[in-house]
Amino acid sequence: MQYDELETVNFQSVLDCIETNDVPPSRAFIAKKVGLSRTAVSYIVQKMIALDLVEEIDKESGDKRGRPGTPLVLNPRVWHSIGASFYSHEWRFVLVNLNAEVVETHVLPVSGDSQEAILNSLFDGLLYMMKSTELRILPAFGIGAPGLVDSVNGYIERADDLNWKNRIDLRRLIWDRTSTYSYIINRYCSNGIEEIQKRQYVKKFKNIVYLGIGTGMAGAVYLDGKLVTNSKLRLGHIVIDPKGPRCHCGQNGCLQAMIGEEAWLGKAAELGLKTVSSGEDISALAEEGNPAAIECLSAISVPLSMGLAIIVNVLNPDLIILGGPLGSSSSKLLELVKEQMRSRILGFQLQNLKIVKGDSGKFSSAIGAALIPLEHKFELLRVKPSI
Ligand SMILES: [Zn+2]
Repeated sequence: MQYDELETVNFQSVLDCIETNDVPPSRAFIAKKVGLSRTAVSYIVQKMIALDLVEEIDKESGDKRGRPGTPLVLNPRVWHSIGASFYSHEWRFVLVNLNAEVVETHVLPVSGDSQEAILNSLFDGLLYMMKSTELRILPAFGIGAPGLVDSVNGYIERADDLNWKNRIDLRRLIWDRTSTYSYIINRYCSNGIEEIQKRQYVKKFKNIVYLGIGTGMAGAVYLDGKLVTNSKLRLGHIVIDPKGPRCHCGQNGCLQAMIGEEAWLGKAAELGLKTVSSGEDISALAEEGNPAAIECLSAISVPLSMGLAIIVNVLNPDLIILGGPLGSSSSKLLELVKEQMRSRILGFQLQNLKIVKGDSGKFSSAIGAALIPLEHKFELLRVKPSI
């Protein structure tokens, strides 16, 4: 390991300790926890204070020899992160501080599925966010993009629900328009990251699957407490019924084709639910006890539970979160899925499995995207990334 790499690892361990410890830790506590000398920790902390990443919250209590007793926290006032996400045909933008608290928001609706219009709207929004604030911004955006995303290279490989079949070099396009680097992830994945972080699920569960159900379907997978960043996971394209409806990806009966927006809008229309146009609409009707809405959700719960059973058999999650516009809004769907799961997996698998409903807010996915630059804040401030 090169000296620089070792230093980066040590800095990161100290920062992680300050961020994740239940109470603000002192230098002495950090030294013990991460296994570094007090001198090394004091040196690192001084550098972080100079970078405005960290601050002392009680300057009076420590002694003068490196103030080992003074608690340290993230400094939320200086550095901020911009996140964007494409949800319900609009780009939603947020500016968050180091504590992931939202400072500003911005929304740009886009009409139609034209790639050019959707991407131009993203660039306009990012430029607007940069120019409209006096606050200091980390030199990278977090983007929750539609479709299958290659996070390593910053590509959208394809977005079947929008009928985009071409690879889009989104990181390059954003760079060309804004001269700023970006981390690209799927929008449901960023939604999952926000929910999992907000509720501190990683502290309580080992393997977590967040499944976002909307026009498309995708999610976030955590194994052993770590987000799986393998861009080739395609949770929405697990085949449930080879004779089922055609999916935009070319296969038949993918989970997405069976329970995505197109499927349940079709089912709702078939059942005479003419006013339904969103996941929230159908959830609200089902909560009121509307028999057709309950029948529609019941029909969805069958392929959904089949997909979840496959996920359980392969990934052994101890927590599944049903998210996205439909999953987050429907207690009825959650109830139906739990019932179905009883007959699809074994009792000993069920014992260790909790299935919950997400609780997305309008900006959850954009906040989740903004969390990615926050995770890389130290390295971003050391070396400004470029492509
Ligand atoms: Zn498919």
